[in-house]
Amino acid sequence: MSQQGYVAAPPYSQAQPGMGGYQGGFGAGPAQPLYGHYGGQPQQFTAPTTGMMKSPVSPAAGLPPPPVSSQYNPNIQQNGAHPQRYPAPPAASPAYGQPPQPAYNSMASQAPPPAQQLTNQMSAMNLGNYAPPPAMGQPQMPTQMSPPQSPPATMSMGGPPMAGPAMAGQQMAGPPMAGMGRPFAGAPPPGPGGFQQPGPGGPGPLGYPQQAGPFGGPMAGPQPGMPGAFPGAPGGLAGPPQQKLSADSIPSITQVIEEDQGKQGGQVYSTNTRGQVPPLVTTDFSVQDQGNASPRFMRCTTYTLPCTADLAKQCQVPLATIIKPFASLPKNETPLYIVNHGETGPIRCNRCKAYMCPYMQFLDGGRRYQCSFCSCVNEVPAPYFQHLDHMGRRVDFYERPELSLGSYEFAATLEYCKNNKPPNPPAYIFMIDVSYNNIKSGLVKLICEELKTLLENLPREEGMESSAIKVGFVTYNKVLHFYNVKSALAQPQMMVVSDTAEMFLPLLDGFLVNYQESRAVIYNLLDQIPDMFADTNESETVFAPVIQAGVEAFKAAECSGKLFIFQSSMPTAEAPGKLKNRDDKKLVNTEKEKTLFQPQKGVYEQLSKDCVAQGCCVDLFLFPSQYMDLATMGDVPSHTGGSVYKYNNFQVETDGEHFLRDLRKDVQKSIGFDAIMRVRTSTGFRATDFFGAIHMNNTTDVEMAAIDCDKAVTVELKHDDTLSEESGALMQCALLYTTISGQRRLRIHNLSLNCSSQLMELYKSCETDSLVNFFAKSAYRAMLNQPLKNVREILVNQTAHMLACYRKNCASPSAASQLILPSAMKVLPVYMNSLMKSAPLVGSTELSTDDRAHQRLSVTSMGVEDTQLLLYPRLIPLHNMDVSSEALPAPVRCSEEGLTDSGMFLLENGHSMFLWLGQASPPDLIQSIFNVPSLGHLQGHMCALPEVDTPLSKKVRSIINGLLEKRPNSMKLQIVRQRDKPEMFFRQFLVEDKGLHGGASYMDFLTYVHREIRQLLT
Ligand SMILES: [Zn+2]
Repeated sequence: MSQQGYVAAPPYSQAQPGMGGYQGGFGAGPAQPLYGHYGGQPQQFTAPTTGMMKSPVSPAAGLPPPPVSSQYNPNIQQNGAHPQRYPAPPAASPAYGQPPQPAYNSMASQAPPPAQQLTNQMSAMNLGNYAPPPAMGQPQMPTQMSPPQSPPATMSMGGPPMAGPAMAGQQMAGPPMAGMGRPFAGAPPPGPGGFQQPGPGGPGPLGYPQQAGPFGGPMAGPQPGMPGAFPGAPGGLAGPPQQKLSADSIPSITQVIEEDQGKQGGQVYSTNTRGQVPPLVTTDFSVQDQGNASPRFMRCTTYTLPCTADLAKQCQVPLATIIKPFASLPKNETPLYIVNHGETGPIRCNRCKAYMCPYMQFLDGGRRYQCSFCSCVNEVPAPYFQHLDHMGRRVDFYERPELSLGSYEFAATLEYCKNNKPPNPPAYIFMIDVSYNNIKSGLVKLICEELKTLLENLPREEGMESSAIKVGFVTYNKVLHFYNVKSALAQPQMMVVSDTAEMFLPLLDGFLVNYQESRAVIYNLLDQIPDMFADTNESETVFAPVIQAGVEAFKAAECSGKLFIFQSSMPTAEAPGKLKNRDDKKLVNTEKEKTLFQPQKGVYEQLSKDCVAQGCCVDLFLFPSQYMDLATMGDVPSHTGGSVYKYNNFQVETDGEHFLRDLRKDVQKSIGFDAIMRVRTSTGFRATDFFGAIHMNNTTDVEMAAIDCDKAVTVELKHDDTLSEESGALMQCALLYTTISGQRRLRIHNLSLNCSSQLMELYKSCETDSLVNFFAKSAYRAMLNQPLKNVREILVNQTAHMLACYRKNCASPSAASQLILPSAMKVLPVYMNSLMKSAPLVGSTELSTDDRAHQRLSVTSMGVEDTQLLLYPRLIPLHNMDVSSEALPAPVRCSEEGLTDSGMFLLENGHSMFLWLGQASPPDLIQSIFNVPSLGHLQGHMCALPEVDTPLSKKVRSIINGLLEKRPNSMKLQIVRQRDKPEMFFRQFLVEDKGLHGGASYMDFLTYVHREIRQLLT
């Protein structure tokens, strides 16, 4: 039996809510055999017929208003006609209960018995596809493969072409390879998790070079046949000289993105099929929830789990799901419905506490239901009883989101609230460092001016006239100034706390106020602050006491909320949490490099715990002119669901707008507070590890002071038993949180995956973008405990292992000189190489420690879209586009080879944005964008394009604005001319090329990985 649900829960968690009245007494196990849930009930997940649903309500602030907001009523079941959620997609517009595609049956047909499957694969893959490979490795794209996925990519990586088919059968049908359980015997495989063992040290199993770190550090001279990339590669591995391939012949991310957009772009993706692989994150598609959570909320590294732990170990493909519980939905998708089960609270399984969901199986004419997570049979509470139709499905199936949808919310009862009291609305406290630097730079004035408009637009609950969020203000340097901005006052009052060792709140009444009521006093205050400190000489600041003050304020007001802290220097004033400069470039590329990224323990660790306990999220806006120990200062934000923004050498003129865009987005984001998340799974596997801006007090409850629409939690999954192909694998993510108006809610996301004993099925269902998200997060965590060299080695080894296992078990036999990649992973090497070259992992003294620490922390809470873009930036040609077209020009490969001397390119990765101008850019191009006659006339530090009235200028500006709008973070536009010095900063983002600070080109990396694979297979 599953063990979920038995771990001690914190006092106000979801352990025992509201089920007191439903003592079913069925805790001892299933009274009835488990139904063949997905085989026998194909109709269960068909499209809900439109118009049967409760009206949608907006789940949180900031989401688009529901299309039918007039019908919002969380407590009333509406029986009338409802607006159509979507024009039903052609294939999934079944008559009621008569699906043309029995959703879960179709899975069975996708998973034929192993023997048959093998034959299918063999015959499919041999259908003329592995005939003599092309001389120079044009990717083979067999078109006749039977599975829905596209076929593996095949490349001949040098060496004479061999007659592939002649070797037929040798690998697939031959005797089992030695040590199937540990396929690559000789070394402890890192395991699917990759970084579980601190300090594995030493070379990889195959004598992986231990020298300077093949992918980092200064590159040695080129090796024969290996242009510069792998200085330490042992000569013995060299084999025949590798010929230089053309970049066009190796798998391209831009091509993969374009193909998926072509195939699935603009389509409606219905979530009615278990284990279905969704479109790529880069594809523009709509989602129709038909029983599984939208991929916007949950994505997986693979949608088919291996049945056994042995298989998982053998392939080393990490099993993980990336959950973004508050993901923004496009305007044409329905916000989550709210279900209210009244005073008794949400219906839950007595044993494992899973919430009512589409996977529960009703029995006994509807009087009982069997939990699909733990098999417990539960009594249906009397008020919830409903008859079943002839298919065994409740007749109110389509009227109840919790029976028919993958994602929905429950109104939470008092049992889900702290101290059994309904929460107060959250508060936002703005805490401004008014030390010398910030006054002098004009930052304080800028913030105060902006707040006047920003506070008018605080997030509101759907249907409410004004925001319920309270606001408060603190300024500080060595001491803290609190402001009383009570509406009754004519003037704000300041209270100074200079004893920062024992932080206390000098006032209760009037500190946290309703903005609308206190607008006049707040305006007054915001006008006065820059003047009050205009003559300050104080350059020292405190930091930990500032956060402590925020926590105390929330404690006193019995609310959760967010601190917006604007700080420009390292806190060196005598106070708790005082920091000193510990940056040391000599540590780079040594065993001790990791210490640069480890936060200072003590004060900040405790502060994180205090914050999480109070639901206090910390957002940090940093304006450094030198080292600030970001690893430590970012520690509290990165455990409280917060963000860290950083503006090096901030100047109002060049960075002001960039900063304000971030601030506006951040304040207005949709967000939930005081959150606790639990991932329940069906028997056989469980969630074992969690990555995100989170805090864990035990092994199962993910605590977040807040979680916003851009934050994701990556959850690693491991087997604890054998999974069944028939029942598949189920996950339910339940997030308990407080809305921006102080309502307590539960947000539920359900996802069902396939299980297979065939590795081929797993490889077919992989999602590279999700894999890379997992690898990035686990590598960035691992670098706190082990040398970067080891972390990079594990990444390379695991890449090779995953691909070699595919080659050995799934691919049809072919010449060893051919590199065969599973179709779903064919661009994995590009991403892995890019990850190893990313600033945190690269180990270069030329990079700032704070910049590296910043990226490390940012990635920890990123969703799949963000890691994808970060590791493979968009490079968009702008010089030859059709200015009349609405579409964004197709990006080109992120390589110097994609650039042209006479071209103009935009590059962005979600954090940086460049406009690159070729040195031979035609004068009319320059004229139409910059209104100057030539490149030479361009000003040095432009951060925005002038508003020139030409079609090209308008189009370029609209592309840039569109991207800034779309990304979670603002980006500062940097304009670089080819061959100018700043071009270097641009070039480090051309991730297919050799790294500026070390690291191989994509081509060299692929060649190297191929060599590793060949080693593993011999
Ligand atoms: Zn259960």
